[in-house]
Amino acid sequence: MPQAPTTIVDEVGIALANLADSTSGAFTPTLRLGVTGLSRAGKTIFITALIHNLLTGGRLPGFTPLAEGRFIGARLAEYPEATIPRFAYEQHIEALTGREPTWPESTRRISQLRIVLKYQSSRWFSGMRGPSTLNLDIVDYPGEWLLDLPLLGLTFAEWSAEALERARRPGSGKEASPFLELLAGIDPLKGANDPDAERLAASFTDYLRRSREHGALSTLPPGRFLLPGDLEGSPALTFAPMDKPASTSRKGSLYAMLEHRYEAYKDQVVRPFFRDHFARLDRQIVLVDALRALNAGPAAVADLETALTAVLACFRQGETNPLLRPFVRRIDRILFAATKADHVHHTSHDRLESLLNRLVASASKRARFAGTDTRSLALAGIRATREGTINQSGETLPTIIGTPMAGEALDGTTYDGKTEIALFPGDLPERPDSLFEDGAPVALNFLRFRPPGRLDRNDAGDVLLPHIRFDRALDYLLGDKLK
Ligand code: GDP
Repeated sequence: MPQAPTTIVDEVGIALANLADSTSGAFTPTLRLGVTGLSRAGKTIFITALIHNLLTGGRLPGFTPLAEGRFIGARLAEYPEATIPRFAYEQHIEALTGREPTWPESTRRISQLRIVLKYQSSRWFSGMRGPSTLNLDIVDYPGEWLLDLPLLGLTFAEWSAEALERARRPGSGKEASPFLELLAGIDPLKGANDPDAERLAASFTDYLRRSREHGALSTLPPGRFLLPGDLEGSPALTFAPMDKPASTSRKGSLYAMLEHRYEAYKDQVVRPFFRDHFARLDRQIVLVDALRALNAGPAAVADLETALTAVLACFRQGETNPLLRPFVRRIDRILFAATKADHVHHTSHDRLESLLNRLVASASKRARFAGTDTRSLALAGIRATREGTINQSGETLPTIIGTPMAGEALDGTTYDGKTEIALFPGDLPERPDSLFEDGAPVALNFLRFRPPGRLDRNDAGDVLLPHIRFDRALDYLLGDKLK
């Protein structure tokens, strides 16, 4: 169990920031929505679709304010904090809806955007007031950064012991051995020096990257090693785990230097992220690429579960100092979303949701206990496929139809990025538990598809983005705030 990641000083800071938020938003209520998930889970696509659908009043029958005719419209607004990068909505939508649609660049750092929503309230007294307004602040950040929060409760020696134990497990062999060999050849008590620290950090990062590429979906902290954001190449990231030397006089040693940098990383990177961004969220959506894990087999599914549990252990869930509670925001709803549901036939969507429920079961139980409402949903922010059927050996199989990206390969065929195909992706099992059991992995066929080509337009000439169950996600995240 990670320790509470804040100190009392942080709590006061967070409370003051939230108080400032609530006074500056005295006339217009503000909802801060966090969007997170591990790398390539679908954050960029989700947010782009979210903004586009709100700006154009897209096809969203399940979004109550729109279905009831009370949603008036939305516009982008200046974000109040000018030092935080803005989510590059215009570039992303241009990439997706241009002449040759492409998927936009993925999330690599934190970014934010404000969208102002105008609606007619359904409350009895609202007729006298005219339309109401809500500022929706969207905060996009890598899920890998959340995996760092437990570090706040660990000393360098404790973190090193954990990280090295994991690297030395038989399963980590190939990926970890260059780092472990390098570490074995360096005396922790030798004099502090930058070249050794840099070599160790580079080799450790390489190990993390390779274990990621070879199927591990969760990553060990430090999360910034793989997704450094603006810290790329900075000394704050120049450390690595090291066995604690027996000698007590470590002053001036390489070990002491790494320990010092680890503490600086916690103080100057992890804590400010938590205090300035994470602790100020009202709602959170956690995106999960469960299909990719399924495709990789039971070990990857178990690994994803571990990563999600670690991520979710970080949510505050109301466990704050009672004196400060009135000023501290608390996440009251968390939506878990299995993304890219358009990679399977709709007959598997409910099963995908059951799998997600199973993956986040323990974490969401804890959240509910602390008063946070949670829900799981399978969705596609942007649907890249249609559905059809094929006949194979007298059997009718449900298929998805789309254009695989150039270079995607399956059963010995490599696709050119121009040819549309009908694919039977396979069925998800009825019983999610079977996916965690060792044995034959589920036989699923996955290909990355190109974004949808021909898009419909609404009466105003705006492009409509096709989606799956996206309106239900919006309704859960925003619907009650637009009542
Ligand atoms: P992140 O920002 O790193 O979380 O990930 P992205 O949003 O950039 O998504 C990574 C990739 O997943 C994209 O480039 C798409 O290929 C794919 N993807 C994301 N969302 C969807 C979706 O709703 N449908 C389909 N078919 N692919 C998606």
